Amino acid sequence: MINLLDLDPAAMTAFFAERGEKPFRAKQTLRWVHHRLADRVELMSDLAKATREALARDAEIRAPSVVRDSTAADGTRKWLLDVGNANAIEAVYIPETDRGTLCVSSQAGCALDCAFCSTGKQGFNRNLSVGEIIGQLWHANRALLADGIAAPWVEHGRHPITNVVMMGMGEPLANFDNVVTALEIMLDDNAYGLSRRRVTLSTSGLVPALDRLGDACPVALAVSLHAPNDALRDRLVPINRKYPLAELLAACLRYIEKAPRDFVTFEYVMLDHVNDGPEHARELIALVRDVPCKFNLIPFNPFPNTEFKTSSRTRILAFQRILRDAGLIATIRKTRGEDIDAACGQLAGQVQDRTRRTLRRIQPVAAQ
Ligand code: SAH
Ligand code: SF4
Repeated sequence: MINLLDLDPAAMTAFFAERGEKPFRAKQTLRWVHHRLADRVELMSDLAKATREALARDAEIRAPSVVRDSTAADGTRKWLLDVGNANAIEAVYIPETDRGTLCVSSQAGCALDCAFCSTGKQGFNRNLSVGEIIGQLWHANRALLADGIAAPWVEHGRHPITNVVMMGMGEPLANFDNVVTALEIMLDDNAYGLSRRRVTLSTSGLVPALDRLGDACPVALAVSLHAPNDALRDRLVPINRKYPLAELLAACLRYIEKAPRDFVTFEYVMLDHVNDGPEHARELIALVRDVPCKFNLIPFNPFPNTEFKTSSRTRILAFQRILRDAGLIATIRKTRGEDIDAACGQLAGQVQDRTRRTLRRIQPVAAQ
């Protein structure tokens, strides 16, 4: 069975060519799946009945199924999605006044093991398929439309999700091919038609893959910096031992040449008395002197058994002030959806689920 959510425009065209169908069938099908968000081939009413029935025998539209659907007090909504073999991933919808952003996962778990990240603490399970990545966007649009969300930006025929950030679970550049194919579907006019500026990929700094992204599919870029020198970054973001700051920043400069935006967003998680002092801010200013950038300061979101604490508001504001006084743009990320554990790096639902599953597995044995 082919999952139509797995196919980018080129693959869709090839699929129909193999079936002896005209190329416009591919376009028609993309529109049914991604514009109209059809969940069954049978709904494609402008396909001849025989074609439709034959297609339904070989193809389906299958997104990961929803395990849990929670909405926070601030309107943030999180879907916990089952991707099989006891793996769950999350997609988080963040409504703002002028846009709807979806935070999308790229892997079940993550192998890079950043010290302050609950996903990293779980280890790596597997890469998500194209259908599992794009299925998050497909599902979120469908679910929000079905709920009749009354957001000002949703006009007739438009989708509630206007922006995508690849900032959920996993390191998107470590699942390069599937992520790039999913990005292409996000950008294609017959699918989601998002502009490159409205799609942001966040990476912890896989330098060779970042160069390849610039060639294959440049979208807006966020880089998880988190430290102003290699010694500290080696500890917080272990991939830094392989691709140290000088190499990472050089790659950012190369990327900007190809990117839809003329700056990089540096994410900087604020860890109390670890990387949030005035001396760190000053070192950071010197470090990024030659890189057009904006800073997004992220208050650390704690999770069980972490060694870190969130920086105080006073320390965050002081840090921001030093960056601003040096002429840098630095915003403090508003923490969203905390009451449903949907905040950055807090995608810990599955950690709890795992614990429960482990308990379920252990209990019957214990009872014997
Ligand atoms: N793997 C990619 C994208 C997913 S993480 C990356 O690391 O960039 C998205 C962002 O959340 C990253 O900047 C990450 O460093 C940050 N993050 C991870 N854990 C966090 C936590 N506990 N509190 C706040 N931000 C966190
Ligand atoms: Fe992976 Fe990003 Fe978490 Fe680091 S911060 S462990 S790269 S998901």
